[in-house]
Parts: sequence; structure tokens; C-alpha cells
Amino acid sequence: MEKITIHEFDFALINEFFVELERQGPGSPEQTIKALGFIDNLSNKTKIADLGCGTGAQTMVLVQNTEATITALDLYDGSIDKLNATARKLGLQNRVKGIVGSMDNLPFQNDEFDIIWSEGAIANIGFEKGLNYWKRFLKKGGYIAVTYESWFTDERPAEIEKWWLDAVPEMGTIGYNISIMQKTGYIPVAAFTLPENCWIDNYFIPQKARQEEFLKKHVGNKTVEDMIAFLRREADLYSKYKQYYGYVFYIGKKM
Ligand code: SAM
Repeated sequence: MEKITIHEFDFALINEFFVELERQGPGSPEQTIKALGFIDNLSNKTKIADLGCGTGAQTMVLVQNTEATITALDLYDGSIDKLNATARKLGLQNRVKGIVGSMDNLPFQNDEFDIIWSEGAIANIGFEKGLNYWKRFLKKGGYIAVTYESWFTDERPAEIEKWWLDAVPEMGTIGYNISIMQKTGYIPVAAFTLPENCWIDNYFIPQKARQEEFLKKHVGNKTVEDMIAFLRREADLYSKYKQYYGYVFYIGKKM
């Protein structure tokens, strides 16, 4: 398919890079299970939507730690193909279905789900907009569980503030994000910070070999060089400024 905008080219390239990795964002099975522990009334009737699922690292944790049925959605078809292949390999294809779609135009019915899950992806629609828009697809009393980039302090050095405000313009503190959750019609149930190993061991370290391989594959491609430089800077900034920000799991219940 011909590339229409630089944006689409970047999206394809980023996904070509990340589809070979187990995770596409910071997280871990332990933290997904911890978040699941705040959710009541799980049964074999529970229906979960996992939005921005990537290749399904957290989807497989959810399906293996519940009896639920899961619809996992991502914009990138390569990730969905991989997720569906993993589900088949694990014999879980009856309870997990990956579909291609956009989180801002969901192909679901109102009140269809008991849980909406989303790790590392809600910034693509916006925290407030996502919480507002996704609520209609949840049953009353249903849960939302998302991880989202958050500030730990009211003030931070200009270098890191600029980096994140370019990437996630509405990024706020944990207190602010909880207030948004309440304002958009959820009872805040829990908020906890992902530990550093979710970033370092599960996100930055696995990228290293892939970065070398990707540079070799696309030798001389300036866009690829820029993208790898961006990812390396993201890791450097994390080690320099990690006391100021991180991913936080927010769990809320629809009123
Ligand atoms: N949840 C996965 C994980 O934690 O490993 C993936 C997180 S990755 C940081 C963000 C994901 O959001 C990518 O897989 C990307 O393709 C997806 N994404 C971006 N924009 C999207 C949209 N509008 N609708 C659905 N998925 C989207």
C-alpha cells in the first residue's frame, strides 16, 4: 500500500520494529495480575475489551488468569495476526479474539463489556477523551483498567517536561488523573505505579538487540536512524529522570 502521510509511514515503521518484541510498552504479568485483583465478580460470563493490545502480552495474562472472553483490538494488523497466532498456539482461541480497529471508533455495542482494559495505549486517544468515549461500552458497575504516563511531582526539570509534553500533551499528575476519572463518571478504585523493572527489564533492555538488527536491516535509512535515536533517548531520559514520572495503573468502576 502506498504511504499517504509521514505519520502513517512512522506508524508502520514503529510497528515493524515493535512487533518482534514481546511487549510494546512498559508493563509486566505481575502488574496486570495485581490490577486484576481489584476487580470483583469475575466469572466465565465476564467480557473484556483490551484496547491498543499490541501483540497481546497483557491479553494472554488476562485470559490465563480469568475465565473471561476477551476481544483485543489494535490499529496494527501485524500485531493482531501475532496475537491470534499466540492464542491458537495456547489453545485459547475460543476465549480470545484479536481484531483490527481504532480505539476512537469502536465496533462494539453499548453496555457490551464488563471490563475495558488498556495498557500503554490510552494516550493515543487522550486520557479524558478515552475514559469518556469508552464508558458507553461498559455495563453499569463495569470496570476500566488502564496504564497511563503520569507525573509524580508538581514540578520537574524543563528537559523532561518538554519531552513528555510533546509526546503526551495532556499528561498530568496522579491526583489530577484520578480527578479526571471521577469527573468522567467512574468511582476510582485503585491507582498504583508500575515498578522500574517494567520499564528497564521489559521495555528498554529487550529493545537493544532489536535496535542493532533494525539499523542493519535499514542501513542508510535516515528515518530509521532517527527513530532508533529517539528510542535510545527515551531510555536515557528515563534513567536520568525516573523519579519524576512513570506509568500508573488506574482502575475505576462505572457509576
Ligand atoms: N498494550 C500493549 C503492550 O503494553 O505491550 C501495546 C502498547 S503500545 C505502547 C500502544 C499500542 O496502541 C500499539 O500497539 C499501537 O498500534 C496501538 N494504537 C495506537 N493508536 C491506536 C488506535 N487509534 N486504535 C487502536 N490501537 C492503537
